[in-house]
Amino acid sequence: MKERTENILRKLVSINTTNPPGNEMDAIKTILGFFPEDIAYKIVEHGDNRGSLILEIKGEDEEKIGFIGHLDTVPVPDESNWVYPPFDGVTKDGYMYGRGTADMKGGVTAMILTALHFIENNITPPHTLKFVFTADEESGGIGVQALRDKDLLKDLSKVFIPEPTDEQIGICEKGALWLNIYVKGRASHGSRPDLGINAIEKLYEFVCRLKGNMDLEKEHFLLGKSSFAITLISGGVKTNIIPEEAKASVDIRTIPGIDHEEILKKAHEICKTMEEEKPGISIEILVVNNRPPLTIDEGNTFIKEIIKTYEKLSYPVKFKGLNFYTDASQLIPFHHIPFVILGPGEEKMCHQRNERISIESVMRMAKLYISYIINS
Ligand SMILES: [Zn+2]
Repeated sequence: MKERTENILRKLVSINTTNPPGNEMDAIKTILGFFPEDIAYKIVEHGDNRGSLILEIKGEDEEKIGFIGHLDTVPVPDESNWVYPPFDGVTKDGYMYGRGTADMKGGVTAMILTALHFIENNITPPHTLKFVFTADEESGGIGVQALRDKDLLKDLSKVFIPEPTDEQIGICEKGALWLNIYVKGRASHGSRPDLGINAIEKLYEFVCRLKGNMDLEKEHFLLGKSSFAITLISGGVKTNIIPEEAKASVDIRTIPGIDHEEILKKAHEICKTMEEEKPGISIEILVVNNRPPLTIDEGNTFIKEIIKTYEKLSYPVKFKGLNFYTDASQLIPFHHIPFVILGPGEEKMCHQRNERISIESVMRMAKLYISYIINS
């Protein structure tokens, strides 16, 4: 089992699916190679060697349990600084090193091991299993969106997202709202600011007003507080010219209970007010990314079943909140499926140099998924 886990994970790590450009179709071909030829599957292509895969194992009844894992990884901007080459899958002291080991080819490996368990031992699971491998989670999420829009995920009654959660039970994740803000004012000589409209100052004012309107003090028991950060800014041409244009990007992260539509409504109100206060300026807001925060009640039947499985295996039961968003954010708000974010590896390893995962952790989580399925 250990050797097999290593082999599958190493093969996946050796396929470069850094996004952009993704090339997830290469990983899909490799995954299909792990399975017998008669496995039921569907590939949805997204063009440019990108695609998502669904494997299905028929169960005794029609209820469907889903596992959704992404195949793409973030890029490697600092390859020469890695201790081991990021696409070799070197193992040392029980850990495999490489880009995507934790986020989340380890989780994908646990999914594959789970599927193989039922196929190779000729076990018909109580419920039908759907293993979903998606493209582009690290960027716009074209994979999960395409599957959702084709109604291929609608039939799931429960869904596991095997992202790295330190083997804890992830019951909530923060939302993300990314805005680009463009301000156009009026240029004038630096000695006569009164004749112009300073776009940088107006941009700053807008951002401060928007931030001031957000509830950044409200606290969630697992996720802490929402946040608001200016992450990009540009504008102006010269020291002695009042700038005509300025733009900024803000990265807003929200806890459950904060409504993104409310934030956007407020942003447009502030826009309107500022344009009325100072005729001649225009403020434009572009929504670049909008993923709502998610949460599932600890008392939900699905979560209770998972806790039972943990207890059965003598795994420590601990809840977790994820600071980052997952494919769940583009699925749950549409289909309202009970979900859990639960997988091998450490959350802190995501997107890091010398990313690694414990092989044992991958095996423990595969064991958990199998046990859950059999007893559900
Ligand atoms: Zn991930």
